[in-house]
Amino acid sequence: MVKPMRGAISSRHEADPFVRPSFPSDLDTPALVADADVVERNIGQMQRSMDEHGVLLRPHVKTHKSVALARLQLEAGAIGITVGTLGEAEVFAEAGISDLFLAYPLWVSPPKAERLRSLLERVDLLVGVDGVEAAEVLGRAMRGAERRLRISIEVDSGEARTGAPPDEAGVVAVAAERAGLDVAGVFTHGGHSYRSPGSAAAAADDEVRALERALASLMQAGVEAKSVSAGSTPTAHRSAREPVTEERPGSYVFGDRQQAALGGCVPADVGLWIAATVVSRSPDGHRVALDAGAKTLSRDRKSWMIGYGLLPAYPDAVVSELYDYHAVVDLPPDGSARPVVGEVVAIVPNHVCPVVNLFDAITVVRNGTTVGAWRVDAQSRSH
Ligand code: PLP
Repeated sequence: MVKPMRGAISSRHEADPFVRPSFPSDLDTPALVADADVVERNIGQMQRSMDEHGVLLRPHVKTHKSVALARLQLEAGAIGITVGTLGEAEVFAEAGISDLFLAYPLWVSPPKAERLRSLLERVDLLVGVDGVEAAEVLGRAMRGAERRLRISIEVDSGEARTGAPPDEAGVVAVAAERAGLDVAGVFTHGGHSYRSPGSAAAAADDEVRALERALASLMQAGVEAKSVSAGSTPTAHRSAREPVTEERPGSYVFGDRQQAALGGCVPADVGLWIAATVVSRSPDGHRVALDAGAKTLSRDRKSWMIGYGLLPAYPDAVVSELYDYHAVVDLPPDGSARPVVGEVVAIVPNHVCPVVNLFDAITVVRNGTTVGAWRVDAQSRSH
């Protein structure tokens, strides 16, 4: 039995409000299942919230990697999509989606330069840059292209992953323009909203402050940025204010266990589960094994979380260990309800994005009945 860390989020006190989905009886496990009603509601709610704040929505599609879902987001009012890799951009461009922001500080090797030039001929593309050297390399790689490449300068608002210091945005912008690139905007990702429950409000303030400073730096350098882009699901509603013009949340589409803990969604908004079958039970009944392991659930787990997912129907269960194709679930020794062998259980993933990437399709249900599938078109397009 895993010992909960002090202050850690365990299943016990978080499970009850999560929906206990009913799955179609002919479902083959392990499967990824989404409730279309919940997903559509999430898409509509985020769009309405951004509309009310007067901010544009450019959802990050790395969460679902699905053309069908991107189309739902665009139909609901999103102005375009955010992608994380050239590979994702290629998949969505191929499907006819033409307004793309690659919100990543791209380092263009010769093969990437080739792909970037080909994309630039087909779609309206904005690319992230976070340093002088990268801007120069990108500028050289795009020399002679029919259109000038539009870039957005990434600044670090506290995540400490990528991004120039906000006060240096102007220096990067000047280098980019000198290299033949068009500076269209600045952006940041308040990913430190994920550090622990309660971090989101401060991270959202950090996003706004960093973008203000970046704009001041650009102004000093005589460069105008039209697009001022922030975004993560926990911060999206909170940083949607001046001078931000655009938000890029991704995970809100499905929600997950960490979003519910961080305030990025409420548990009832979680609309995606892994369906897994109990394939084995220990003689003492204190442990079961599921047919869903690391290659289904991923190993993603924040230090403040207990276990590799949450079983809404069994609040005391802890997914304590993962093997490639098995999850071991510890059950409390008291008389509370226990899953039986052959039973199909729902698991809320800790982090939905890597889980979706492990499947080529998502089974779509309404009221427990299968109504179709969403293809994960950009599965594994991580380069
Ligand atoms: N923008 C960037 C640059 C990101 O890296 C991410 C996620 O990693 C997002 C937006 C979307 O954030 P979230 O997954 O919190 O919705």
